[in-house]
Amino acid sequence: LSNARDGATRRILAIVNQKGGVGKTTTAINLAAALVESGKRVLIVDLDPQGNASTGLGIPHSRRVRNSYDLLVKEATASSLVQPTTVENLSVIPAKGDLSSADVELVSDAGRARRLQKSLREPELLAAWDYIVIDCPPSLSLLTVNAMAAADAVLVPLQCEFFAMEGLSQLLTTVKEIRRGLNPALTVEGVILTMYDRRNNLSELVANDVRANLGDVVYRTVIPRNVRLSEAPSYAVPATVYDPTSTGSLAYRALARELLERGTRSAA
Ligand code: ADP
Ligand code: MG
Repeated sequence: LSNARDGATRRILAIVNQKGGVGKTTTAINLAAALVESGKRVLIVDLDPQGNASTGLGIPHSRRVRNSYDLLVKEATASSLVQPTTVENLSVIPAKGDLSSADVELVSDAGRARRLQKSLREPELLAAWDYIVIDCPPSLSLLTVNAMAAADAVLVPLQCEFFAMEGLSQLLTTVKEIRRGLNPALTVEGVILTMYDRRNNLSELVANDVRANLGDVVYRTVIPRNVRLSEAPSYAVPATVYDPTSTGSLAYRALARELLERGTRSAA
């Protein structure tokens, strides 16, 4: 049996990059699904008002009446917002458009950056899940700050394109600021190279450049550009379910293994 119930492996991961379209949501869904295949119980918190993770996991709007907006603004109990997906042991706290007004509504609340941190400390929730994966919006707004305040670690997907690292120093500065105040224990778990195209020299150049600059924090596993990864959301399942042997699915499984190994290493 897996060590899924071993509290020591429990982690909250925030998938962060203020750029859109770099593979945050694809990583949240498929990394989560691959962790589930490894025997973990995984909850995705959709913190993007676009709700792409919720849509990709097949949560209809009728099951998003209560959503992550209620978590942040209404202080609803997190476990009361959890929606199951078609994948056993993979659930989601969904999001929809009303989340986009959360920063304005919380503007006069001194504790506004700790709303998620507080709500994810619910013992019942922590007992139920091995991993909590937070899918962030494409900004370093209050929503992302809430995610970083609540997380143990940040995962940063970087698209293998020119200017991949643009904005990264701002992101890392934000992480340092969060560490100084809201969450001293926050770490950068890793950088994930996404949409790697081996027929395109640029991908390799960018990947080498990123590794040269960032070193070991970059995962060995690279996520290839794979059409199955982009098709799966329209079937409302992770790619690992839609096409289990696609290159994209294999890559996310390898990434999950690497993440689990790193977890053991840093715990040792
Ligand atoms: P983000 O959440 O950072 O905005 P997404 O995960 O939504 O990024 O990805 C942006 C678009 O690229 C989506 O249409 C998604 O399906 C597609 N996509 C993401 N990763 C890959 C990949 N490795 N190969 C092919 N398409 C991808
Ligand atoms: Mg997204």
